[in-house]
Amino acid sequence: MTTLSHLPPHTNGKVYLVGAGPGDPGLITLRGKYLLERAEVVVYDYLANPKLLSYVPKTATLIYAGKKGGGLHAFTQDGINKLLVEHAKLGKFVVRLKGGDPFIFGRGAEEIEELATEGIEFEVVPGVTSATAAATYAGIPITHRDYTASVAFVTGHEDPTKKFSNISWEKLATGAGTIVIYMGIKTLPSITQKLIDFGRSPDTPVAVVRWASTPQQRSVVGTLATICEVVQKADIKPPALVIVGEVVKLRQTIDWFEKRPLFGKRIVVTRTREQASDLVAKLEEYGAECFEYSTIHIEPVDDYSLLDRAIERIGEYQWLLFTSLNAVTYFFQRLSLLGRDSRALIGPKIAVVGKATAEELLRYGIRADLIPEKFTGEGLATALLQTGVDGNRILLPRALRASEMLPEVLTDAGAGVTIAPAYRNVPPQGRKEELRDQLLDGAIDLVTFTSSSTVTNFLTMIGAANKEELHRLLDQVKIAAIGPVTAETIRQHGLQVDIQPQRYTINDMVQAIVAYYRDQATPPAT
Ligand code: SAH
Repeated sequence: MTTLSHLPPHTNGKVYLVGAGPGDPGLITLRGKYLLERAEVVVYDYLANPKLLSYVPKTATLIYAGKKGGGLHAFTQDGINKLLVEHAKLGKFVVRLKGGDPFIFGRGAEEIEELATEGIEFEVVPGVTSATAAATYAGIPITHRDYTASVAFVTGHEDPTKKFSNISWEKLATGAGTIVIYMGIKTLPSITQKLIDFGRSPDTPVAVVRWASTPQQRSVVGTLATICEVVQKADIKPPALVIVGEVVKLRQTIDWFEKRPLFGKRIVVTRTREQASDLVAKLEEYGAECFEYSTIHIEPVDDYSLLDRAIERIGEYQWLLFTSLNAVTYFFQRLSLLGRDSRALIGPKIAVVGKATAEELLRYGIRADLIPEKFTGEGLATALLQTGVDGNRILLPRALRASEMLPEVLTDAGAGVTIAPAYRNVPPQGRKEELRDQLLDGAIDLVTFTSSSTVTNFLTMIGAANKEELHRLLDQVKIAAIGPVTAETIRQHGLQVDIQPQRYTINDMVQAIVAYYRDQATPPAT
């Protein structure tokens, strides 16, 4: 690291010490998000969820400051303090993103002191501290009129160079109703012993919550007398919080987070990058942990002459067909580039393959005239044939390479079909090793497929050399397919489909996944 202290002081720089919240990226404050969106430099911690960095402008400098409980430090505290000062002196808008709340066992004050000494402007934004989050997400109300009227936050990891403890364990043991201990896993045996020695009943309930508010959350419960053994058996490692007190009993009734139907399920979502978020959001709502692998990347085609010509003559067509959401997006992009808008589409009727495509179309102010009952190419072909397409001119903007079934059926029925390439699917590069490792480690429970091309691209991506390897990679994994065509493609590769919804929508697929795991969890009736 270079020292920049020789530079003249700059007045514009400012450091924002921002609490990132306990883990769930949704638990950052609006102020915190606002500042991240404007940051030029972000210095972030091990405990701050890296997903929050997606709010940061692409041009910003990201610096990982590390600090994993007593282990390897990417920077010393002194190093971090200097880093903040240096960037602020360069006039930068610096966000120092810290896990939980910066002023609760976060050494936030030490960083501020250094800034104050150097005359650098700063602001502190509080965060949801992990103690309250762990309690809430483990179903434990930290206070309760019937059980406790006081709560104490303490550290189980005092500065090891200190001769005497700053914590009066003898007063704390019976002085606070609920005691929440940060950084207390390594010292748990001596902490529980001290509490018992100083008069707290060995039967006092205790909960330990690891990675609170994240999909990896794990909690265990015991008493002051038993919790050490429970923690050891469950192999609970930091970061975790220890909650001591009668309120822990309420977990039986209030536990909600870990009881969500897909909690603990690790699901690979294979969609185009542009479309994954809807499925991911829905699965996460049910508690799943999602890994997005975009197996298809959508790109424009090189030659738009066919589509442009068709758009210029759009009035000559009786039908305009959209068989995918991307077709809608790219069609309207071209329309706009040609200086036109939705009003150009007065002539033809418009048919779409399914609900998602219809919704995309609505964003351009256009209601589809025809949505087939079955959301497939075949369903669309059947529905169109029923309208009588003989002699009709039909425009089909679509992927450069796609199934010929639909245009063939329509041509056979006497229609004149113009196929106009609007975009192309390309398999994305990279992240192959990561996915293979996850599969081999048994770290994935389920893979979801929302189209045949996601199946073939996924298989290309994991690159199994032969059938044996493919089975080794996927044998432990359940497979969900959105509809029969996708399912058929999966079976053609010798794989089994475990989950398939009745209707081919994202929503129905999510419901089918939830139902599947619910059935698995319920023992069959005898
Ligand atoms: N400023 C932070 C605390 C930092 S001290 C806050 O307000 O939460 C680090 C300790 O916090 C960890 O050792 C652990 O005890 C606790 N901690 C932080 N995030 C946690 C999480 N998601 N789950 C459980 N404990 C967590």
